Amino acid sequence: MIAPLPEIDVVALTCGRVRVRPKNIRGTGTPMLWWTLTARAWSRWLPVHAFLVRHPQGALLFDTGQSPESLGQGYYPGGLVGWVFRRQAEFQVAAEHGLAAQLEAAGSSIADVDLAAVSHLHQDHAGNVALLGETSVLLSRAEHDLLSEKDPSLHGVLADHVGAANYRPVDFTPSADPALAVFEGAHDVFGDGALVLVPTPGHTPGSMSLLVRRANAAPLLLVGDLTYDPALLEEGIVPDVGDRSAQRDSSRRVRELSEALPGLIVLAAHDPEAQALLA
Ligand SMILES: [Zn+2]
Repeated sequence: MIAPLPEIDVVALTCGRVRVRPKNIRGTGTPMLWWTLTARAWSRWLPVHAFLVRHPQGALLFDTGQSPESLGQGYYPGGLVGWVFRRQAEFQVAAEHGLAAQLEAAGSSIADVDLAAVSHLHQDHAGNVALLGETSVLLSRAEHDLLSEKDPSLHGVLADHVGAANYRPVDFTPSADPALAVFEGAHDVFGDGALVLVPTPGHTPGSMSLLVRRANAAPLLLVGDLTYDPALLEEGIVPDVGDRSAQRDSSRRVRELSEALPGLIVLAAHDPEAQALLA
């Protein structure tokens, strides 16, 4: 059902830099509030990637990066919630990290984006959705539901900044594709098996990944924040963020997908090696 696959070009955009607490990368089962309160160390600065995926039927932007507005006053909520946000991650968004600048460097533009998708609603993934205007933005139904909760910030979602977009919630349906049997469902973006969204919850309740299968290069799985480092995912080590058992379960499914699709490259949103892996 998936042949013949088209040629697809994938570019890693760098829409900001972030440093996080070590437990955000390599978890040990420590409760999030505890390490948030006590952590002193930061990781090194890591890229905030979005990915431009050029399929013959259209250019899809997977994730949108961190907004430069986040560096200004009043972006984060006040009180304890805002304090938790600032303690968990620090961002840099230089002029060249702007979404428009990154797309331009890739020979594209915001107007050229035909369709977007966000792995999840955290600010460094959905932070620039407002720039996309009427362009449809796919996200999982479970993630979209967070926006109507009483307090989305409890899931790390700043609804004031990421809530306004032309969201198209995705309902995953069972796939006849044997390679995808390990997932509870899938959403085939263009109906040709080349770009398929799959649920990989845990980091947030509705986190999802994008499988890219193409004629011209190895298959890719863009996993958002399911892991910061594919080597950790391979070892079954998950961050101390979100639902650890769901992350372990999603990680296992990704490892099984790797067995079904030999040569699969896992691309994490904050992996400094992502551009090299695409080269
Ligand atoms: Zn995240």
